[in-house]
Amino acid sequence: MTAGEMNDFPLTKNFNLREFQCTCCGQVKLHPLLVQRLQLLRERVGKPLVVNSGYRCPRHNAALGGAPQSYHLRGMAADIRVAGVSIAQLATWAEDLGFGGIGIYPGFIHVDIRPGKGRW
Ligand SMILES: [Zn+2]
Repeated sequence: MTAGEMNDFPLTKNFNLREFQCTCCGQVKLHPLLVQRLQLLRERVGKPLVVNSGYRCPRHNAALGGAPQSYHLRGMAADIRVAGVSIAQLATWAEDLGFGGIGIYPGFIHVDIRPGKGRW
């Protein structure tokens, strides 16, 4: 098994580490609470949840214009979407399941596990 293939190993029923890798370099950090909450959200939604962006290395985060203290840099945030589910509905479910920060964007939501940030 190669190092890359090892990232296909399941973390939860519906997620593996590959889905959270930085898209520019393949590095990854992932807080267990993030993937645990995403799994709960996946079960609430009942459809595949697509991770647009999980971990970002500092270089990639800067290239995207991300906040310097972004939770993506700490493996504590993900940008997600679900085909056939509205952003508003997805945000409401994420809030109910205890995600601390929820950002609403065209076509996806940002969720993170910081305490008590709320929506933006
Ligand atoms: Zn990178």
